[in-house]
Amino acid sequence: AREVVAERAAPVPAPTTVKVTNRERVIFPDSDITKGQLADYYATMAGVMLPWAGHRPISLVRCPQGRARACFFQKHDAGSFGDAVHQVPIREKDGSTENYLYVDDTAGLVTCVQMGTIEFHGWGSRVDALETPDRMVFDLDPDEGLGFEETKRAAVYLKEQLAELGLISFALLSGGKGVHVVVPLTPDAEWPRVKDFADRFARALAQAEPERFVAVATKAKRKGRIFIDYLRNQRGATAIMPYAARARPGAPVAAPVSWSELRDLDTAARWSVGDMDALLERANGRALAGWGVADQLLPDF
Ligand code: ATP
Ligand code: MN
Ligand code: MN
Repeated sequence: AREVVAERAAPVPAPTTVKVTNRERVIFPDSDITKGQLADYYATMAGVMLPWAGHRPISLVRCPQGRARACFFQKHDAGSFGDAVHQVPIREKDGSTENYLYVDDTAGLVTCVQMGTIEFHGWGSRVDALETPDRMVFDLDPDEGLGFEETKRAAVYLKEQLAELGLISFALLSGGKGVHVVVPLTPDAEWPRVKDFADRFARALAQAEPERFVAVATKAKRKGRIFIDYLRNQRGATAIMPYAARARPGAPVAAPVSWSELRDLDTAARWSVGDMDALLERANGRALAGWGVADQLLPDF
């Protein structure tokens, strides 16, 4: 009799006709990850990444010669991305209009990689409702020298304080040093109100626990503290998107985690591009069921 093996199909990249050139080019010299592998990573993760990163203005960290060489942050389209990367005209503060980029499918993500992209950062609102964010993000930036333990404790503290206000929040490992506390919102309040809430919330925490937190970006004031970066919550600001790779040593990725998983982690760079299979399994697994989803309005604060 034939042996029955409970075999799990290996994750396959979602099909796309986008041509990736120079697949063998090493993009992460520290971990030998090539442009082809990065393209396959995004194609494979597209299904779980696009609900978070699709349909919203994005900024790209492009490093055409790899992460160890020159990288640049790109917000606007120079017209060179082709059909899979869409444009959305957005009115700027000065009254002018600029075309921002967004993607909505695998081809869009892979085209960006073809153009040298490593990181995908996104707005807190979608292109069909630009003025009403569907996400608020508190980016916890620990001072150098602070350990991940302090950062984790800070994230949990924010979660608890948000819960006091009736808001459910979720933890995202940045893939770098910090944790982002993500608050899904039903798009309703406009940017100024969301920013004002985030600003006052961050300041209130910094006032309540001045030894641990600071709500101003000044590096000198951060000494031994965690900066609660609430400025991700203004119109035009971006934050790293879930499952985006980071242009940092080891090719780490921004990874959603449950609050109970966070307790046992000792780094914000726990998963990397090479962990694609595990990331995909996690994304569809029980620990992350419902991650990032909540129908909730900003309370008065
Ligand atoms: P870490 O956990 O290491 O802090 P991070 O993604 O939170 O990782 P930050 O430096 O705290 O990194 O985030 C700054 C945010 O500002 C980024 O998420 C990004 O969206 C945005 N940003 C980064 N580089 C630029 C840039 N050159 N110009 C404008 N905005 C940028
Ligand atoms: Mn940060
Ligand atoms: Mn920051």
